[in-house]
Amino acid sequence: MKPRKKTKEINVGGLKIGNDNPISIQSMTNVDTKNIPLIIKQINTLKNEGCEIVRLAILDQESAKTISEVKKKVKIPIVADIHFDYKLAIYSIENGADKIRINPGNIGKKSNIEKIIKTAKKYNIPIRIGINSGSLDKNILKKHGKTTPEGLFESAIQNIEILESFNFYDICISIKSSSVPICIKAYTLLSKACDYPLHVGITESGTINSGSIKSAIGIGSILSKGIGDTIRVSLTGDPIYEIKCAKEILKSLELRKFGIEIISCPTCGRTKIDIISISNEIEKRCKNIKKNIKVAIMGCAVNGPGEAKEADIGIAGGNGYGVIFKKGVIFKKVSEEHLVDELMKEIEKNNS
Ligand code: SF4
Repeated sequence: MKPRKKTKEINVGGLKIGNDNPISIQSMTNVDTKNIPLIIKQINTLKNEGCEIVRLAILDQESAKTISEVKKKVKIPIVADIHFDYKLAIYSIENGADKIRINPGNIGKKSNIEKIIKTAKKYNIPIRIGINSGSLDKNILKKHGKTTPEGLFESAIQNIEILESFNFYDICISIKSSSVPICIKAYTLLSKACDYPLHVGITESGTINSGSIKSAIGIGSILSKGIGDTIRVSLTGDPIYEIKCAKEILKSLELRKFGIEIISCPTCGRTKIDIISISNEIEKRCKNIKKNIKVAIMGCAVNGPGEAKEADIGIAGGNGYGVIFKKGVIFKKVSEEHLVDELMKEIEKNNS
């Protein structure tokens, strides 16, 4: 792991991104932005799971107007996602967006970009430049022949220069592709070239299972190079899974903690108790425990005590029973049927 690069800090509706601030988790709603009750419900569900910034697709004036209604009911920074129409960007800011995501290159006339920037300055909100391989500028595509890391990087720099030409520096940048190798190289080039905070993601990564793996490899590789200040996992499915996956990525790299961390063995021929059900049950029951505790669930004593030394608490299975460890020291032998309840009692004691 490389140490995290220090970037400039931006403030998105009270949430600070960049510099030493925790790497934040973002998602995007996938219901009709104009359906206010539904959008509020989805935002709150995402927030409860751990989402820290939520983005809304703004397709027309009515959906931009939704932002002001939504902001009365939710306590999470709202980002307006705009394509092509500068008026929608301005209208979204006026309706309370905490950040807008645009691709200045596809807004058109410089005078229209200037109007957006003037409004962003007036309301003191940042702009994310969202470069995406699917909407790369035609001239760049022609020059590079296809989507390349260098092409994405060049587009990002061109867009940064547009905003800087109007003395606007309250910027965050993403440079996404659905290809992991392209993303890794593009983010590496961009991180070397600028100090703006970077929003990291692998776009259109796929369905919940395959997309989570692809995102974990892509986003994880970029973060492990010390690059990235906020992340979004993009999955074809309920966005709640984007948050679950993002938390696992950050937890795995030991960049953030989100309550219980479970270490469980894959089981093998030595396993004599139902470790799979026990692990799933413990994970379910620990969902709302906020304290950062490491719990080891091991099928037998071969690796159990060793792992339990690293963990705050753990179990190792025997034949029809299990033992509970605390910091590697066995303190209780319990029958298999009571193992989950007994372990939970101890975890809850640790939680108080
Ligand atoms: S901890 Fe024991 S049961 Fe689990 S995989 Fe290792 S040897 Fe097998």
